[in-house]
Amino acid sequence: MASDSDSIQPPDDDSSVHKVGSIAERTLSEIERDYVDLREQAQQLLSEKLDLENKVAKQKQKVKRLEEDVRLMRMPPHVIGNIQDVLDDERAVVRSSNGTVFLVTYNRGIDAEIMKPGARVALNQDTLSIIDVLHDAWDPLVMGAEMFEKPLTTFDHLGGLDEQISLIKESIELPLISPEAFLDFGIEPPAGVILVGPPGCGKTMLAKAVANSTDCTFIRLVASELAQKYIGEGGRMVRELFDLARERSPSIVFIDEIDAIGAKRLDSATSGDREVQRTLMQLLSELDGFDSLADVKFIAATNRPDILDEALLRPGRFDRIIEIPIPNDEARASILNIHMDKMPITKGVSVDNLVQGTDGFSGAELKALTVEAGMCAIREKRKKATKSDFNNALKSVVKKRAEKRGEAPNSLWS
Ligand code: ATP
Repeated sequence: MASDSDSIQPPDDDSSVHKVGSIAERTLSEIERDYVDLREQAQQLLSEKLDLENKVAKQKQKVKRLEEDVRLMRMPPHVIGNIQDVLDDERAVVRSSNGTVFLVTYNRGIDAEIMKPGARVALNQDTLSIIDVLHDAWDPLVMGAEMFEKPLTTFDHLGGLDEQISLIKESIELPLISPEAFLDFGIEPPAGVILVGPPGCGKTMLAKAVANSTDCTFIRLVASELAQKYIGEGGRMVRELFDLARERSPSIVFIDEIDAIGAKRLDSATSGDREVQRTLMQLLSELDGFDSLADVKFIAATNRPDILDEALLRPGRFDRIIEIPIPNDEARASILNIHMDKMPITKGVSVDNLVQGTDGFSGAELKALTVEAGMCAIREKRKKATKSDFNNALKSVVKKRAEKRGEAPNSLWS
């Protein structure tokens, strides 16, 4: 019988050690692998954390910006006004944008240097205290007024207006160039002239040509833009227009279609009419405040002189009326010559014949005729405009004239 000791074989030392060793090795390498994995994961998580922290910081910034935007949007609006007078280091007289004048206090933190009469300011809505002094800015409509440092149009570009040119020269050019001549005689030149005549006969060109000959800034505004919806708006724009003219002087202010605000005042007026009348009153008072020898001149234009308010035409205002009529035969020849000057034409084209066929045409229509003839020649790839180009152009302009509606009757100008 085999003893227990016989049956139980002593472990084979080598193999068990080997087994334990290989288990330990495997576990160690697994642990090492796990460790490497975990380290990688930790690294990845760390960079993800950094990334997220970055994103959170960015979002926080965005939230801050949005909160600031919301705060600004929730802020009550400020009223805009202009300083009229600074009384002491606490109080000033301001005119708010609707024209009412107030005595208000102002923020002492504002630099006294910039607290000057005329400065644009933001006023607290409730107390009208001055909160801030704003940069000078003109109303976009006033700023949008067509403006040229010195327009390129000269008197040579105008045909058939010799008499009108000499009238405008003595009323506008002479006082600008030699004011002393008027001082010597103790007389005052007109503050402004009014050009009357049908559309397209050279009123704007004439005003531009004076600005050119006197090296003036030319500011052009259509009066209907001054007729505003809100009370006081039109008056404010007139003030700004005059301020702009003063700042850019020497300047010529050309107000086209003056009848839009300068029509006769009626008793039975609607509130809209009354606002237009207030704008006119502002224009008149600004004109009165101007020295007629100052280097700002006013030229207005209208094709409805019959409806103008007498007050506009009083001495010291637009007290000179210059009529720019529909060009006669001679004037038409001269306008056609100006516009055909640089156009290559064949011998058959006769200006005299064109003059005969264009009775009643305005300067703008004569220009349109020459442009159309030139276009015909270009279309046909010819080097020169021919008689038939002009005949076709004439037909097309006559047709367009016939299609026009709502123009002032020609009898108005005869
Ligand atoms: P509106 O009353 O419609 O403003 P306007 O009288 O001011 O018209 P302008 O703008 O001066 O007319 O003229 C329009 C165009 O017609 C000019 O650009 C010019 O080409 C031409 N024109 C008008 N009159 C003359 C003229 N006398 N000589 C040369 N060109 C002229």
